[in-house]
Amino acid sequence: MIRSVVECQTCGFSWTRPLMRSIYERQAMESRPCPMCGAQTLACRKVTTVKKRPPDERDDSAERVG
Ligand SMILES: [Zn+2]
Repeated sequence: MIRSVVECQTCGFSWTRPLMRSIYERQAMESRPCPMCGAQTLACRKVTTVKKRPPDERDDSAERVG
């Protein structure tokens, strides 16, 4: 799954949002002030999130041959 991460270069605050496909959407986001520190140093980048596997099921039938 591909998502966008918006990160503040000043305070390091970051959050994810659905992938922004258009350059205009990105530019609009990057021109906004940081919600944490107010600096206009937001940068967008793409990240790919890996789907987590469910925990392995334990096999109780431990049979040994030999
Ligand atoms: Zn900030």
